[in-house]
Amino acid sequence: MRSHLLNDTTAEAYRRSVTEGVERVARKLATTRGPFTGVTPAELAPVIDAVDLDRPLGDASAALDELEDVYLRDAVYFHHPRYLAHLNCPVVIPAVLGEAVLSAVNSSLDTWDQSAGGTLIERKLIDWTTGRIGLGPLADGVFTSGGTQSNLQALLLAREETGTKDLGKLRIFASECSHFSVQKSATLLGLGADAVISIPVDRHRRMQSVLLAAELETCRAEGLVPMAIVATAGTTDFGSIDPLPEIAALAAEYGAWMHVDAAYGCGLLASPTRRHLLDGIERADSVTVDYHKSFFQPVSSSAVLVRDGSTLRHATYHADYLNPRRTVVEQIPNQVDKSLQTTRRFDALKLWMTLRVMGADGVGELFDEVCDLARAGFELLAADPRYDVVVEPQLSTLVYRYIPEAVTSPADIDRANLYARKALFASGEAAVAGTKVDGKQYLKFTLLNPETTVADIAAVLDLIAGHAEQYLGENLVHA
Ligand SMILES: *Cc1c(COP(=O)(O)O)cnc(C)c1O
Repeated sequence: MRSHLLNDTTAEAYRRSVTEGVERVARKLATTRGPFTGVTPAELAPVIDAVDLDRPLGDASAALDELEDVYLRDAVYFHHPRYLAHLNCPVVIPAVLGEAVLSAVNSSLDTWDQSAGGTLIERKLIDWTTGRIGLGPLADGVFTSGGTQSNLQALLLAREETGTKDLGKLRIFASECSHFSVQKSATLLGLGADAVISIPVDRHRRMQSVLLAAELETCRAEGLVPMAIVATAGTTDFGSIDPLPEIAALAAEYGAWMHVDAAYGCGLLASPTRRHLLDGIERADSVTVDYHKSFFQPVSSSAVLVRDGSTLRHATYHADYLNPRRTVVEQIPNQVDKSLQTTRRFDALKLWMTLRVMGADGVGELFDEVCDLARAGFELLAADPRYDVVVEPQLSTLVYRYIPEAVTSPADIDRANLYARKALFASGEAAVAGTKVDGKQYLKFTLLNPETTVADIAAVLDLIAGHAEQYLGENLVHA
């Protein structure tokens, strides 16, 4: 069994094995016809159930053959131009190369003595990101597993910075379109679900700062503590960006921590033409970025950045076995002092390879292309009498619904849209997302693939209309 360990004597076997795997994936990518096969859980579960984990196959080729059946054939492929569903990007090759390197070397970024240069590379990328945001000379941060964890950590720091022990008094303000991880974080931080005050959005789905001001005033009048305001820079559904300068001014006035959730909109930091959409983000106390959304990085790659690096001390604990106090005096760079995680992947290497090969402009141009595509898609939808589209996109999402020509009940329209989404997914021809707007069923394109064309969008809209019409035809005839 030692022949399976990666070391000096097995380097050749490693090269052969990984190359074989890479070749199979490459062949797969070159030949997939759609984003999905349409397989159902009921069809796939028995295939996976049939695998006896206590009877190993012994060699990688056999395991790769089996993998074709249990995973690769029916995976959901984000690189396909008709995958238009969630916030998943096609990945850039330099990042995938970084992924291969980081898992083989297997550094752990908790301490210097498990990572060496890896720690310095991560720190340089944190500095690069805070520089792009404009957080100032004291800024710092750390890579995380994703936007959910970044938001949690930011709100943990905000809670500790209030100095308030009476957690029941703390309030967080976020728009009604903010990510659900804000509520989840409030619960995890012991604040309770009522702690998050939901601020209504305008017709562009941006937080209404006038209503935020009113809620802050109420909070103050009731003797409660405005712990944090979460501004979303790129809401998950609409890509809308809250008014950051107004929110920053209110945060300063009421002494609240300003957190900007730019999990989606962070790609603008690299955009050669759209960076101004994030104006005001430089006044944040903390920022969430998800490189695995708009920087074309493989999952996971995310970071939380803070204006004042010393606030990260709220996540610092010392252990004799890992990062004893003396390491602080000795100035040994231990990233675990800033992180909620202990053992931690060297995800930063993927972004490093990307920037070293493509540069920031290269990444930003790709994001610009999908934002341009969304604009073109919006015009298409707005001119199409079969569809109602919700907002002009600031980033790269489109929220719309099919509206039948004949008079139909609102419930039927909801059902027809839901059916169309499911039927499309089952056909494997394209994947779109769904959401609700004012209680009504809508469909959503999240455009993150520069290879998707306006013609793809038009074709998918025809497919959706076809499915919806079929549903209504069948169901209204029998009604
Ligand atoms: C995706 C998203 C998150 C959560 O990020 P994960 O990486 O999925 O944990 C948080 N906020 C916003 C606005 C998002 O779009």
